[in-house]
Amino acid sequence: MLLDFIKRNKNFLFVDEYCDENISGAGTYRPEFERMIYDCKIGKLDIVLCKSQSRFSRDIEIVEKYINNKFKEWKIRFISLADNIDTEKNETTKTRQINALVNEWYLEDVSNNIKSALKIKMKQGELISPFAPYGFKKNKNILEIDKEASKVVKNIYNLFLSGYNYTSIANYLNNKNIPSPSLYKYQKKIKLNIVSNKPREEILWNNNTIKTILNNEIYIGNLIQGKRTTISYKNHKTVSKDKNNWIRKENTHPKIINKETFMKVQNIINKKKKNNIRTRNNHILSGKIFCYKCKNIMRKKSTKNNTYLTCINAEKNKCNNRNSINYEILKSILLNNINNLVKEFFDEELLINKINNYVIERKKEIEKNLIEKQNNYKEINIYIKNIYEDKINKILSEEDFNNLLNIYNNEKNIYKEEIEKLNKKIKNIDINNFIPYKHREIKELDAEIINSFIDKIEIDNINNGERNIIITWNI
Ligand SMILES: [Zn+2]
Repeated sequence: MLLDFIKRNKNFLFVDEYCDENISGAGTYRPEFERMIYDCKIGKLDIVLCKSQSRFSRDIEIVEKYINNKFKEWKIRFISLADNIDTEKNETTKTRQINALVNEWYLEDVSNNIKSALKIKMKQGELISPFAPYGFKKNKNILEIDKEASKVVKNIYNLFLSGYNYTSIANYLNNKNIPSPSLYKYQKKIKLNIVSNKPREEILWNNNTIKTILNNEIYIGNLIQGKRTTISYKNHKTVSKDKNNWIRKENTHPKIINKETFMKVQNIINKKKKNNIRTRNNHILSGKIFCYKCKNIMRKKSTKNNTYLTCINAEKNKCNNRNSINYEILKSILLNNINNLVKEFFDEELLINKINNYVIERKKEIEKNLIEKQNNYKEINIYIKNIYEDKINKILSEEDFNNLLNIYNNEKNIYKEEIEKLNKKIKNIDINNFIPYKHREIKELDAEIINSFIDKIEIDNINNGERNIIITWNI
């Protein structure tokens, strides 16, 4: 259609064709599109011709950026045949913007429809991924055991149960020249995710491949899908979903590992996790404290009555920075330093002045309110006196009088309460109770404060345990 159009226009010259096959107009990975934009930029083209604007891009931002902006700058004429757009004719700007908007709506709908259709399939236990997990092969939408790879999976489970950890299993398999899952798929010409462009021959077994295999219920015949979702139809980054929202279906395909073996493995993994949490050197200064002499990280240690940081190398006699530093003392030194730094940047006197002015204004405001309420209170007393007189003079009936008196007494009580509240407020107005003033100084350190202020802290010992603390600020 496009070539025909060029033929019919005598002054058009065909330069090049740009076509991203099988990639939709919404994708961000469009190498041919990028090439076309580049050719526009360097002046190779002066007309971009396409079937419809949605083939150019369904993203309104990209339409705006190029067709309505850059193309004008680069003097590129944009023509799309199906929706009758030609930037040489000025009146079509609005059409273009409307088309772009409609295309976005269309995409949003399609994206939602696909998501819900996939969810139904997952609930029925149908494998929606186009790729079979390692150990299986895909026959249409059914998983079958891949004999060769499933042997390796069994071996991994057995090695783990006999005491190998993730790393040693990976090393073992690499030494035996057993191809890693991605290399295996590559060798067998099994369909791979096209986006990954790493040279597959080089990929070896590693911690993560082993961990994934040991944690995946797919090997006991269960299918768990919908672990991740894309952020939106525009942003193709995936995010993890909460475990409760995963879609799980049992016994959807033949198993490679029996349930008992799988559970034993899970128990070992969980125990390891717990131990890791207990021994991990985690504190608010983690990763920030270094030995000045050997530049190595200093580790937090505890005895019965002392918590301190010490150079790991010094313990191994590889560094002569032998003095440890007390953890609490170091924290208080850092707190002081941070507060001093903050003080350098604001004028305390000016701050107090400002706050005092604010407090005075606030007090005036409340006092004004108080006087108003007190006047209201007095006024009601006059009303009450008036209705008394009216009752005596028989202008008001006994019943009307009682009703009015009730109403006035209620109002009186409300004002009384408000007056008490305002009096309390006035008493409490004080610079020291003023929230911004109260928090002008950091009282306690936490990891966030440490991270935002400090790049690193180096500890040196000069002599006789006298320490030099070198702080590298982030500011
Ligand atoms: Zn050291």
